[in-house]
Amino acid sequence: MKIRSKLLTTLLLLLCFLGSGIWLIERYVVIPKVESLEVTGLEAELERARKAIRRELEHIHKWAIDWGLWDETYRYVQDDNPDFIRESLAEGTLDELSMDFLLIVHADAHVFLRTTDRMKPLQQALKASLLDDSTTDVLINNGSGLITLHGMTLMVAASPVVRTDGSGPALGTLYFGRMVDPMLVNTLEQVVSLDVSLVLDGHEPKPHQIQFPSEHDSVSQAWLPLVGTASHSLRIELRGGRPFLDQALASTYQLMGIIFVLGLFGTVATYFLLQHYLITPILNLQKAVLHFAHSHSLEAFDAYPHNDEVGALSQAFQEMASRLSADREIIINDRERLKHDSLTDPLTGLGNRRFLDHNIRHKQHWSANHFILVMYVDLDHFKRINDTYGHDVGDQILQEFAQLLRQCCREADLLVRTGGEEFLAVCELATIDHAAVIAERIRAQTEQHLFVGGTARLTCSIGLIVAPTGELGQLEYWERLFKVADMALYRAKHGGRNRWQGWQRVCPEQAEQNPLPISTEELQRALEQKILTPVDH
Ligand code: GH3
Ligand code: MG
Ligand code: MG
Repeated sequence: MKIRSKLLTTLLLLLCFLGSGIWLIERYVVIPKVESLEVTGLEAELERARKAIRRELEHIHKWAIDWGLWDETYRYVQDDNPDFIRESLAEGTLDELSMDFLLIVHADAHVFLRTTDRMKPLQQALKASLLDDSTTDVLINNGSGLITLHGMTLMVAASPVVRTDGSGPALGTLYFGRMVDPMLVNTLEQVVSLDVSLVLDGHEPKPHQIQFPSEHDSVSQAWLPLVGTASHSLRIELRGGRPFLDQALASTYQLMGIIFVLGLFGTVATYFLLQHYLITPILNLQKAVLHFAHSHSLEAFDAYPHNDEVGALSQAFQEMASRLSADREIIINDRERLKHDSLTDPLTGLGNRRFLDHNIRHKQHWSANHFILVMYVDLDHFKRINDTYGHDVGDQILQEFAQLLRQCCREADLLVRTGGEEFLAVCELATIDHAAVIAERIRAQTEQHLFVGGTARLTCSIGLIVAPTGELGQLEYWERLFKVADMALYRAKHGGRNRWQGWQRVCPEQAEQNPLPISTEELQRALEQKILTPVDH
């Protein structure tokens, strides 16, 4: 996986972690906090609804007290005065008072009941309920309360009927009441901000209950006890939305959106910055290193002078490459020197036997129809020089003689010191006559040369063989050439020294049937058969 892919993956993972972190915070921190705020708010709403119902009950109770203390009521109860009915409870009075019934119970258990039309079917049940001692006791003690009647709930208040000045015993009890109906719900909706419903519940009162069925709905419930009916209660139910949560979620989603967009921008920006400052320089460095590996050129490193870590890495590579380059140059020079040394005679600077082998093995450019001249050149009585002048002078003479050989031959000729005071020359000739010229030149110049500033004079003997270049090829053929030249040298020595002697190869077309001799007998036979003919002076 490339760095840029890893980088992109890392940044996207970071974005995912960030998003997950925000979601977790929302789920486990924000939402619980919002819910606790909502619960507090809904509890307050429930309490307001309860208080509003209590106020209604107090309102009814106030009317009951007023009417209980009213002289007309007192007189009615005392005298059963019908004027009270005529004057005070005309048609529509209950509606004006927002009441559904008025019940007056005389001390002697005589009962007066006036109801609105909608209560008429319930009159008997109402009487039975309110004349029940347990209900009456609770209502008189508390002043007001809720009672149930055939599946409906009534708000009822009670007050004793007494004189206006409050003196004397109570002559009876007065009850005012009204149904818990949509009008009351309307009244409650003016004090709470949620939808209200009042329901007769077949359960005992319970503590407040608040539920969140979904992210958008809330239900909160409270139960009010009914007088004398422990197994029933009036349920106040408030239904509404969840504005706090909606707002919190909207804010969170907005925040997540902003973070996501910023994160995306950040990711793209980070990607391009890292691409620019890290990946591209690394790739360029890689190119520079590859360029160096292929061309050993350091110039590719100069293009990236960064002042940062990649720049430092590039400089380190450049340093390493420049050292490698220098070491390589040393190795190449050493190798060249070693190669030169291994092919050179250290005393004379001419080639050695390895040089000769190397050249005849690899030199492929002998011109066709030319001749090859192989000469063994040996200094005469050199031992005496050493004995007379010492080994150092002998060395110096060998060096001078090597120089003389160079002058007598051409640069392209192979000149080799084969050992001691013996040399070998391989020269390419355009015509066969040149063999005698070169050999004679070497012999004559050696004879004339004043070695070591005139200290010594020397002669040399030369054995040679000339053969057409067309025959050259196998190494064995060369060996035979050297052998014939050596035998020629031997003859030159025995012929009196300071001379050259040798043969030329004729009838090369029969070369395969008549190979060059490698022994004196074969040489004799070759000379007799005229396979080799003497090189003329
Ligand atoms: P000939 O005419 O038969 O060739 O006689 P020669 O004395 O030249 O030949 P010989 O083989 O008897 O002696 C060769 C001498 O060359 C022996 C040795 O002292 C000398 N020699 C060989 N190599 C070196 C060298 O590297 N330096 C010096 N100074 N002398 C050397
Ligand atoms: Mg010699
Ligand atoms: Mg010798």
